[in-house]
Amino acid sequence: MLNISRFDQVTRFDLARTLAGRGRYWTTAYLVDGLLVDTGCAHTAPELLRALKDASLHRIVNTHTHEDHIGADGLLQRLHPDLEILAHPLALPILSDPRGKQPLQPYRRLFWCWPEPARGTPVSDKEVIETRHHRFQVIYTPGHSLDHVCIYELVQGWLFSGDLFVGGQDRALGAMYDIWHIITSLKRVADLPLKTLFPGSARVRKDPREEIRSKISYLEDLGDCILTLHDQGRYVRAITRLICGAPMPVELITLGHFSRRHLVLSYLGMNQV
Ligand SMILES: [Zn+2]
Repeated sequence: MLNISRFDQVTRFDLARTLAGRGRYWTTAYLVDGLLVDTGCAHTAPELLRALKDASLHRIVNTHTHEDHIGADGLLQRLHPDLEILAHPLALPILSDPRGKQPLQPYRRLFWCWPEPARGTPVSDKEVIETRHHRFQVIYTPGHSLDHVCIYELVQGWLFSGDLFVGGQDRALGAMYDIWHIITSLKRVADLPLKTLFPGSARVRKDPREEIRSKISYLEDLGDCILTLHDQGRYVRAITRLICGAPMPVELITLGHFSRRHLVLSYLGMNQV
């Protein structure tokens, strides 16, 4: 399933696999001035390809290598062999061998699945990607994954935030995420003069800095509570129940890969990153 919308000079593609007549677990790609930011998942790659048929596409940049953000990279590069795919240096082995380097749990295979391999070009922190009318700075923002970057347009104040910021108050976390690095990365982007935020899913935000700052406060307060309870000798299971509340459907769907327990473990530095 694919929905297209426009925000100023930015075209937004919302992409999700259709199951039982509904799009499930949407992710978002953006096209601006010939630069495609992320490419959705493998299931929706043919739809994105059709949508881009008449578009001017010069380069791709990936915010990170989770399979719901790199799904059409390989297909697009196979059709356009000169198409450059920019990504964090740690992303390159995963792009070139997704099946070998990124094991997927059953829920990830169902909703997103492995993409075709692709050939990436590394970008460094603060490197500027030039398009015809814009300059985009790469900002390393690890935490959600080690290879996560945000893309910041220097004049317009646009931030393409990938999965670093999608809003909401987290009560669960992925098994491989690092919550302290997420907080540090959020602080890094909150200091920028942002005007519009384009997240990897969820709605576009105008003037997003206050919302990012309140998310940082929420996450820091949560961390204080968890560390205090841990210092008092409470077990992880008890802290999870006290701080994160009732079990969540996502824990069942992901068989615990995305869970309240992983959020607590990450604050305690006990998550496997
Ligand atoms: Zn992700």
